[in-house]
Amino acid sequence: MAYVSVPLYKRTIPQRYGLVGLRCKKCGWINFPPKGVCKNCKESLDFEKVKLSGKGTIYSYTVISAAAAPPEFSKQEKYGGTYVVALVDLDEGPRIVAQLTDCKPGEVKIGMRVKAVLRRIYEDEGVIRYGFKFKPQEEDLNG
Ligand SMILES: [Zn+2]
Repeated sequence: MAYVSVPLYKRTIPQRYGLVGLRCKKCGWINFPPKGVCKNCKESLDFEKVKLSGKGTIYSYTVISAAAAPPEFSKQEKYGGTYVVALVDLDEGPRIVAQLTDCKPGEVKIGMRVKAVLRRIYEDEGVIRYGFKFKPQEEDLNG
């Protein structure tokens, strides 16, 4: 089980409202979250926007409970109890960190197919924050 670092999570924040990656025009690599020089060839700054399907596969995951919650999640944990944060390999290539929803921690498996859904993350001083979470794709629940 991989350790999901706080800096890695924080880098995903600007992408909370849209699953859009940047495809490198030089090497074709899709950069997500989009930032600076191409992560793959480390040369190109020439990108085109691509909408991501939001579908992917769980590479690894961590179950967050009251005792283990990092500070940024502790507020949310009070309301939601135990939940799962996963490393998801998107079908387009990028690996991202996201919270899972609509499944119990015991149901999560490495290699499970998931898709992104827009959900309420938490409420802070009256402002409701939304972001992407991932939920199991239906075929995995049935079979
Ligand atoms: Zn590139």
